[in-house]
Order: sequence, then C-alpha cells, then structure tokens
Amino acid sequence: MSAEYRNCGVGLNQSPIDLNHEIKASLPQLEIEYGNNFVSVENNGHTVLVTAGKGNHLIVDEERYDLIQCHFHHPSEHLLKGEQFPLECHFVHRLADNEIAVIGVLMKKGRRNDAFEKILTLAPEEAGEKVEIPDHRLAIKDLLPNTLHYIRYSGSLTTPPCSEAVNWMILVEAVEISVDQIARFAALYPNNARPIQPLHHRPVLEN
Ligand SMILES: [Zn+2]
Repeated sequence: MSAEYRNCGVGLNQSPIDLNHEIKASLPQLEIEYGNNFVSVENNGHTVLVTAGKGNHLIVDEERYDLIQCHFHHPSEHLLKGEQFPLECHFVHRLADNEIAVIGVLMKKGRRNDAFEKILTLAPEEAGEKVEIPDHRLAIKDLLPNTLHYIRYSGSLTTPPCSEAVNWMILVEAVEISVDQIARFAALYPNNARPIQPLHHRPVLEN
C-alpha cells in the first residue's frame, strides 16, 4: 500500500460509520445557501459527480465553506441505527485552508426527485465523460430535506486517500427518490459504497 493510501488501512477516524448511540449536544445550526449555479455532471468511474459553480455556501461554526461538488453512493455509506438506505448524496465543502466539511443526505424510496432526475438524465453512461449543465441551472435544493437536524462526527473521505479530519454532518431526515431513479443509478453503479468502519473512541453528536 502506498503511503498516500495508508490512512485507508490504518486510520482510526475513518468513514462511513453506523450512526448509533449519539450523544445529545447543542450543535450550531446549519445555514445552507445553495444558489442555482452548477457547471457539469460527470461519470468519473467511481460515481456521478456534479461540479458546483461559485455562489454555493454552507455556514457552520461561524465559517463559510464553499460547495465544491456533490456525488452519490448506491447503497448508502452511512447507516442510521443499522439501517442502510438506497442512496446517499454527499455535498463536499471546503474552507480556504482546505478544511473539508461534508453534508450527507440519505435517500429513500418515495416520490420522484426533480433535481436527481436532471442529474440522471445528464449523467454519461461512459466513465470518464462529462457534460455541461445547460445554462448551469440545477435546483440542487430539491436534494435537501425540509429539516436540517443532523448528526456530527469527525471522519474521513470514503475513497482513497481516505484523508481524515473531515467534518461529517449527516442529516437525519431522508429525501425521497423514486424506485425508477434508484434503478437507473444502480445500472451505472451497482455498488459504490465503502463498508462501515470501526468507530473507535470518537464521539458522535446529535442536536
Ligand atoms: Zn462520497
């Protein structure tokens, strides 16, 4: 294993985890200010990834993070009290000094989701291909639930190099997507979820 990937094997703060036994805490409110500026939809061989343009922010801990991209895992990577969901969306944000915060949104079977529909329609079948989003318009807020109640812990990227000190915030309310949408994503990525990792001594906080 190369040094670059070392964390994946020996890191003690890895993601994903089963979200269970949370400690009640007073967590700061999440302020999500996502605009309507998204550049492209890409099939990168690991997932379907939407690149964000400027003007999409997450404000938490009195810091203003820029949204860099969002992407999807099938099935969900995080479990909620042992339960796995059909999909999970990761909104990856960065601060100027490269600190990373990821919001995880669990996706459950239900009604068709318009933003996910647009992403699925644009997503190239061939790995390595990318298409520009017409007019860079995508109502990404459809991929957020009504409530921003969340569970927080310190973890890692779930793909190599599995870098740690990632600030994870998993929303407790899932969003709905249709059975047909789940099947279409599964046709591209039958399983692109990393298995759950040991918690070790990390606190998992819930507001
Ligand atoms: Zn991810």
